[in-house]
Amino acid sequence: MSVLFVSTWKDAGEPTVRAAYENYQSTGCLLTACEAGLAHVELDPRYQAIGFGGLPNSEGDQELDAGMMDGRTLEVGAVCAVRGVIPVISVARKVLEETPHNMLAGENARRFAERHGFEVRNLNSEHSLRAYEEWRANRRGAEVAHLVHDTVTIIGWESETRHLVAACSTSGMAWKVPGRVGDSPIAGAGYYADDDAGAAGATGVGEDIWRFMLSFRAVEFMRSGMSAEAACERAVGIMVDRSPATRDHCSVVFAVSRDGDWGAAASKDGFVAWTCRDGVIESRAIPGAR
Ligand code: ASP
Repeated sequence: MSVLFVSTWKDAGEPTVRAAYENYQSTGCLLTACEAGLAHVELDPRYQAIGFGGLPNSEGDQELDAGMMDGRTLEVGAVCAVRGVIPVISVARKVLEETPHNMLAGENARRFAERHGFEVRNLNSEHSLRAYEEWRANRRGAEVAHLVHDTVTIIGWESETRHLVAACSTSGMAWKVPGRVGDSPIAGAGYYADDDAGAAGATGVGEDIWRFMLSFRAVEFMRSGMSAEAACERAVGIMVDRSPATRDHCSVVFAVSRDGDWGAAASKDGFVAWTCRDGVIESRAIPGAR
């Protein structure tokens, strides 16, 4: 029996796959393990990527998005633009398990979380407050931070059942217009999983990723017989050819096939993926599309 976790970005990827693997050792449940990996990073303010201490919107508030998909049942649970509750991936899990819906939004997502025992709290850390004040002092128009990576996405795979889960948590693009929702909580854009084909996840400029449905495309290319790596390269290739400006920022899709091979492709240099296969943790830098 083999198990693989793949996750995103230089700083947050390693603790995410480690926590997911450790959880899997005791629960044997991919959904729970992926949730645990993301929740671990959300609760730690050292990672500005997501959750507590994530970078806020243009009014100084964290508006969080998260989603997960079970490749066995195709069930989705997601929340978007929700304030003050973490781990937000656990709220998404509640949506998956406790409602007949795919997604809850904003204030009502927060009320749903409160009804399920989540406490409302201030999510600013010292670092996020300082970063916000600096941005506000120097801001030019409605500029958002494409270079600050505020998303962690994870895919889990187990060999015995060839089961896949994809999950994603984010505070979204830093300094975004309040109410903006990117790719991350949207199944097909920020993540997708189907045990019959493969799973994929994304990070980068949410507007581009969503327009090109990178995760769904990568899964569909795997369904047609491509390897995970070829599927990701094809998905990103379509995006950068059709819209060359997408090369200005690093947008990424990574994937795991039902056979457990993985790959990734990026519109620009800068992305690092972390993997944990049966406890062995490694990182790989992914070059941008040529
Ligand atoms: N994709 C995320 C968003 O647009 C940001 C990121 O991946 O860093 O909200």
